[in-house]
Amino acid sequence: MQSENLIVGGGVIGLMSAYMLHRSGREVTVVDKGRIEDNTSFGNAGLLSAFEKSPLSAPGVVSKTLKLMLKGKSPMLLNPSTDPHLYRWIWNFVRNANEERLKKTLALFEKYGEIAMGHYREMQESLGLDFDFHQDGLLMVYTLRESFEERIRSLEKETEEERAEKYRILDPTQCRDYLPFLNDRIEGGILLKRNGHLDPGRMMRTLKAYLEEQGVNFVLEEEIVDWELKDGRVTAAIGVGGRYPAENFILANGADRSLAKKLGRDLMMTPAKGYSVTFEMEESLKPGVPALFNDLFIACTPRRKDVRLTSKLELGSKDPRPLQKRIDSYLHHFREYTRPFEMKNIVPWAGFRPLPPNDRPLVGREERCPNLIYATGLGWLGITMGPAIGQMVADLILREIPDKQSDDILLFSGFWQG
Ligand SMILES: Cc1cc2nc3c(=O)[nH]c(=O)nc-3n(C[C@H](O)[C@H](O)[C@H](O)COP(=O)(O)OP(=O)(O)OC[C@H]3O[C@@H](n4cnc5c(N)ncnc54)[C@H](O)[C@@H]3O)c2cc1C
Repeated sequence: MQSENLIVGGGVIGLMSAYMLHRSGREVTVVDKGRIEDNTSFGNAGLLSAFEKSPLSAPGVVSKTLKLMLKGKSPMLLNPSTDPHLYRWIWNFVRNANEERLKKTLALFEKYGEIAMGHYREMQESLGLDFDFHQDGLLMVYTLRESFEERIRSLEKETEEERAEKYRILDPTQCRDYLPFLNDRIEGGILLKRNGHLDPGRMMRTLKAYLEEQGVNFVLEEEIVDWELKDGRVTAAIGVGGRYPAENFILANGADRSLAKKLGRDLMMTPAKGYSVTFEMEESLKPGVPALFNDLFIACTPRRKDVRLTSKLELGSKDPRPLQKRIDSYLHHFREYTRPFEMKNIVPWAGFRPLPPNDRPLVGREERCPNLIYATGLGWLGITMGPAIGQMVADLILREIPDKQSDDILLFSGFWQG
């Protein structure tokens, strides 16, 4: 049976695209090679961190990363690789980490983060979908005096009114009011008030159940391996178990570049492996707000019953397993700044971010067959930006327009802002 819109990939980007199309009355089918129970969109930190948070490709990132590498504390880890694409990616990353882009990137994060936050709020308030969504800020914790002072100096560019609206500067004691597990080795913190968080696994399960109930079709445990093309259009996605014809195709398969390659497109992104560890801890020491340890690249998110730590950007790895030695290493760094406490029922996890070199998602039509839309490359911001990207994809389809008539694509997509 022909589907109107076929989405390949049921991560947050696929499901949000399905949600936006379905609510405009369009028929949607989502095909996923798994059961949509444990992709990258599940095990992440769930931070909604579009505001006042530096992008990855920020000025000075290269020298800072190298310094931290020497101390064994770098957030980024490069595994030996012979893949030339990875080295092209690194070259692009270095090229993009400049002052000129920083201002624009922060403004774009804010614009699309605001849109996404609005959708999450609406899903919770109007549809009653429970994602455990909160807009209660993100506490940046500093363990190095120089980085704390540097960040405080950067706030001086803003007016007093703006500073009051966006930030709260905290001394170590005030940090411990929010994060009682901290010891006295931290330098201070800055609460970025406008950010938020949700439980990503709960969001994914709830959204999938809602879409199913609303009539969105799901084909699970079916891997798409190729495309059928005719007269400059994709006519069907070819799966291991069948052929899936449709009018429009959305390729939202995360960090895997192979299906785009079959269309001749070498997407500029790389799989960046990351880890999470979810555990229960003593209630009185639990964090009151999500926190990001600026100098360690470790995030710590409070959840209803437990707490989740996430860390590392590991490039050049294809191994999907959560490796114990990596987990031990980042827990060791985290423990340097915490009081002793017991972690119970620890659940380790690893996933791959679809990481572009410039903090720009890869969204837009395939030039050779424009009825296929790419929707990936969200890197470390897929949960933060998911609903905004879903809306962008739906807008292209609903208005039947090319990329160049979409202001959003022209502004934000890495295809146009590379
Ligand atoms: C440790 C870690 C922490 C993170 N923390 C945050 C955070 O705090 N905030 C934030 O905003 N983001 C965060 N992220 C990033 C975020 O998780 C990702 O950007 C997002 O999940 C990517 O979503 P996606 O839909 O593009 O891909 P995925 O979630 O990977 O979904 C892709 C889907 O496509 C399917 N698929 C792939 N190939 C095929 C095929 N050939 N046929 C059929 N199906 C296919 C897969 O099975 C999968 O279900 C984090 C990531 C990591 C790893």
